[in-house]
Amino acid sequence: MSNITDSSKKTDRPKTVEQSSLNIEGSCHCKKIQYTALIDLNRVRICHCNDCQVTSGSAFRINLPTLKSDFQLVCGELKTYIKIAESGNQRALCFCDNCGTQIYSTAVNDAAEFNLRVGTIKQRQKLVPQSDQWGSEALPWTRDIMDKCRLI
Ligand SMILES: [Zn+2]
Ligand SMILES: [Zn+2]
Repeated sequence: MSNITDSSKKTDRPKTVEQSSLNIEGSCHCKKIQYTALIDLNRVRICHCNDCQVTSGSAFRINLPTLKSDFQLVCGELKTYIKIAESGNQRALCFCDNCGTQIYSTAVNDAAEFNLRVGTIKQRQKLVPQSDQWGSEALPWTRDIMDKCRLI
């Protein structure tokens, strides 16, 4: 808990946990799975790991954790694939069994958090990655791709 205020910076708005939280809605592509969640805008993160590249079919994945208690499955039923990493760690990947869209990953036992896939979130334009992880496995061009690409 933090109760620090800095009166020397009068123009700065005080930042609180409340201001960075957002209620979001998400769905898979076929809309069979729909959910709502409360998220923290500061926790949006890119993962460059090999498993995220393969299972997302893309160069990296953008994830956003939410507490299990802040997640509500509105409709549908998720199918689970247990991924075993090279390290032996197991992870449950939960997805729509109709269209295949991945919704979140979570712990196999006693899950407390769901790691939402940001592309399934309606408000994703507001969800800007704040950090990235597994840079050692990143595809080398991903660092500066945004500067090099042009919109077509
Ligand atoms: Zn679906
Ligand atoms: Zn990953």
